[in-house]
Amino acid sequence: MKILVINAGSSSIKYQLIDMEKEELIAKGLVEKIGLNDSQITHKANGKATEIKQRLNDHAEGLDLVLKVLVDKEIGVIKSLDEISAIGHRILHGGGKYNKAVVINDEVIKDLKSYIPLGPLHMPANILGIEACQKVMKSKINVGVFDTAFHATMPEYAYMYATPYEWCEKYGVRKYGFHGTSHEFIANELARVLNKDIKQLKIISCHLGNGASLCAVQNGKCVDTSMGFTPLEGLVMGTRCGDIDPAVVEYMVDKTGKDVHEILKIFNKESGLYGISGISNDIRDVIKEANQGNARAKLALDKFVYSVKKYIGAYATIMGGVDAIAFSAGTGENRDDIREQIMSGLDFLGIDFDKDANRNFVRGINYKISKDSSKVAVYVIPTDEEMSIARQTKELVANN
Ligand code: AMP
Repeated sequence: MKILVINAGSSSIKYQLIDMEKEELIAKGLVEKIGLNDSQITHKANGKATEIKQRLNDHAEGLDLVLKVLVDKEIGVIKSLDEISAIGHRILHGGGKYNKAVVINDEVIKDLKSYIPLGPLHMPANILGIEACQKVMKSKINVGVFDTAFHATMPEYAYMYATPYEWCEKYGVRKYGFHGTSHEFIANELARVLNKDIKQLKIISCHLGNGASLCAVQNGKCVDTSMGFTPLEGLVMGTRCGDIDPAVVEYMVDKTGKDVHEILKIFNKESGLYGISGISNDIRDVIKEANQGNARAKLALDKFVYSVKKYIGAYATIMGGVDAIAFSAGTGENRDDIREQIMSGLDFLGIDFDKDANRNFVRGINYKISKDSSKVAVYVIPTDEEMSIARQTKELVANN
């Protein structure tokens, strides 16, 4: 069985074709700049990358090109589209309703459209991706996998904000959490590596990329996560400020004459590592500058590390302890220096961190970075959201 995984952005489509018998990637690629004159596709298969530049007016044309490339005689990987069993879509928001993957039908599309205000950047693109597939591959099953779904098990006191109750009831103002597909994959992979039943474990999953969030997973279920109503809440991120007193909004509106939307844009796009350091949202650039004595770059990193530590402490407390911690995503998987800083001083939690193993880690595989004597197992677990989407799609197709 082959599953096509689609992650549609406002002007892009990321895709992966996965062989589910072997759980192996067959091909992947990216369609960029849809709607612009210089739109293009980059297709990677059999160790070779191919770039094709072609004007693509909309997502349907982009997807059409993806399918042509997949069956192309020279660079293609399948003989016919019949080989694709189903399509799994990454979808940002499942509102409060979708707590697991679903086969997409008209009712689901209607619901997704009603969630656009909850994810105005991502949801229209996600819907375009689905509609493009429905148009270009009429007979295939489309499955929606939601970034919020894994967090649907949070208890009410965790997801409620202490705002008027009607705000939640009437307008859906509450914590939803994001990166759920990734946290679910990481937690399950960690349990598998430890050879333990996930239902017996207290796990803290640290997805540290440009967007970053932590998730507390108890007995296989999310009990809390750091992102909130939107992906702005929680940790310091590449360009997002994370937790902040909302009173700053009014104060800065008064001080700068900017409107609320502009201030929120600054929280989302000009804050975080970039905002404090003034250098970059890319942690590699910030570390380079900090190592050369740039005080603001160092402050940005200190603030990031501090925010992760705070959430680890909080999540260990709410779960009554922690058995295992996983680091994942761009920074979590690749930056041993940041992992070492986050783990320093946490011996009181039962963590015996293995600095040597951490420094000598091997990229791209599950890697243990705590000592055997450590009460808390600490691992680097490379995340694979696409595989998780493909697995959930396969499961639904099998039951359909
Ligand atoms: P992501 O959003 O998961 O792609 O992660 C992006 C962040 O991870 C950026 O801050 C990058 O600096 C960092 N990152 C990604 N790849 C690497 C790498 N190979 N080495 C070091 N840092 C990396």
